[in-house]
Amino acid sequence: MQSDIEIARSVTPKPIASIAAKLGIPGEALHPYGKAIAKIDHSFIDAARGRARGKLILVTAINPTPAGEGKTTTTVGLGDGLSRIGKKTAIALREPSLGPCFGVKGGAAGGGWAQVIPMEAINLHFTGDFHAITSAHNLLAAMIDNHIYWGNQPAIDSRKVSWRRVLDMNDRALRSVVSSLGGSANGFPREDGFDITVASEVMAVFCLSRDLADLEARLSRMVVAESRDKAAVTAGDVKAAAAMTVLLKDALQPNLVQTLEGTPAFVHGGPFANIAHGCNSVIATETALRLADYVVTEAGFGADLGAEKFFDIKCRKAGLEPDAAVIVATVRALKMHGGVKKEDLGKENLEALEKGFANLARHVENVAKFGVPVIVGINRFVTDTDAEMKLLVDACRDRLGVQAIVCTHWADGSAGAETLARAVVDMIEAPRPAPFAPIYPDEMPLLQKVETIAREIYRAGAVAADGKIVKRFKDLEAQGFGRFPICIAKTQSSFSADPDVKGAPTGHTLPIREVRLSAGAEFLVVICGDIMTMPGLPKIPAAEHIRLGADGLIEGLS
Ligand code: ADP
Ligand code: MG
Repeated sequence: MQSDIEIARSVTPKPIASIAAKLGIPGEALHPYGKAIAKIDHSFIDAARGRARGKLILVTAINPTPAGEGKTTTTVGLGDGLSRIGKKTAIALREPSLGPCFGVKGGAAGGGWAQVIPMEAINLHFTGDFHAITSAHNLLAAMIDNHIYWGNQPAIDSRKVSWRRVLDMNDRALRSVVSSLGGSANGFPREDGFDITVASEVMAVFCLSRDLADLEARLSRMVVAESRDKAAVTAGDVKAAAAMTVLLKDALQPNLVQTLEGTPAFVHGGPFANIAHGCNSVIATETALRLADYVVTEAGFGADLGAEKFFDIKCRKAGLEPDAAVIVATVRALKMHGGVKKEDLGKENLEALEKGFANLARHVENVAKFGVPVIVGINRFVTDTDAEMKLLVDACRDRLGVQAIVCTHWADGSAGAETLARAVVDMIEAPRPAPFAPIYPDEMPLLQKVETIAREIYRAGAVAADGKIVKRFKDLEAQGFGRFPICIAKTQSSFSADPDVKGAPTGHTLPIREVRLSAGAEFLVVICGDIMTMPGLPKIPAAEHIRLGADGLIEGLS
């Protein structure tokens, strides 16, 4: 069987101008990076804002398991399926991070016959956006330490600098460091640390900004430290926001590439799905919506985190109205939710599938609560049996009243997603059961917002918030941040905060450990359980297998 990279390489990308032309983007609006990648000029993006929007389709999933679900693969497959049935379609995806690429994942451009290309470039450096974000973030870090060094006003309490440094790499050695060692010429030693670039607030801000002016205003509002009299010190206070915007100016122009079948795909921005909201840039999604009739986009992790944040943060803040959601499920992952071990997934097991179905059922109910029509996309693996497919399709229809469509785009490209594409179009054209609405209103008190998510989405029995957390919410409300949406950071593997609790638990307690203000991104990160902002590499990282072959081509990306 061909690997992802072999399949990707077997197709010669069309010149990017011909892909852009499918969306009516003229040559003069393109900034080409080689033959198959281009950034779209800000002026064209701004001019397109007045047009009517196309239909927005979110691809989300059940709770991820090590068996893999294939959200990106299905996003690409559905995009190609829509193109195949004659719809003017664009895809909007996140950019991959180098960290996971060299760690466990080994690439994030889809898989099989549903990929975006050129996959090597997209996975490695691409148009340099993440490097620009890293530079902008670290410019601010340098300006903060410099501000302290020279004793500038407002006087920063060097023990209370919350702005860390970033690197687009999985490097556990840098999680906690002491900076400014080596004598008085190097400043004041203080505890510091590195996060991965995708966890930077600059990344979240980048992905939620409407335009360059909005970007600069948001960067300026980011809180980076406390002063000696306990006042918040912002990036604006250390006069960094304008120079950061200069570093990000080109990066903010969305990147256009293509799928293996030539569907235009915007791949732009890539915030973490835990400490941030986990979807591609608002600019890319907006641009795609103004240029195409159908836009397919993906949110990170399972629907409890990814779809909830997509609706409650991105759509709410950007004024987007999602028209449909596809929940990706695999028989393998549902069997794992039903208690099967990874090594036994190749065997038919209807009983475990039946048990694991509860996880899918919960996500279907949840997405419907936002007023968004739902379809289940069953991403078929070659080991799945017909009996397993039938069980899943019947259960979705009979017990949930939703359509489940078996898809084989991984093996067959657009032909394998044609039925899904037709079903999605029919669903969008049918009268909508309810208008889109976020799960909580802006004006709800902050703790109540968390309780609403916990009750409605996670089906928790209670939220555990000690006196300090309750006071923190009150203080944030007093400081004027009460209208911000909540960005929950918890495990992706469970509806609960415990990654080992599979299926569809109820009555559990959601423990709030910490609340962080992202004043530039305009949300509050509510940390429930352990979250990692600088991942490590596994015992045998993907990097060990990534190399240049004798023909000069890259091997080992999957
Ligand atoms: P996600 O976006 O949910 O993280 P991806 O779409 O990136 O998942 O897929 C993860 C991996 O699983 C990729 O390497 C992809 O090639 C593989 N994969 C996806 N769907 C299938 C399938 N139907 N059969 C075999 N492998 C698949
Ligand atoms: Mg993905």
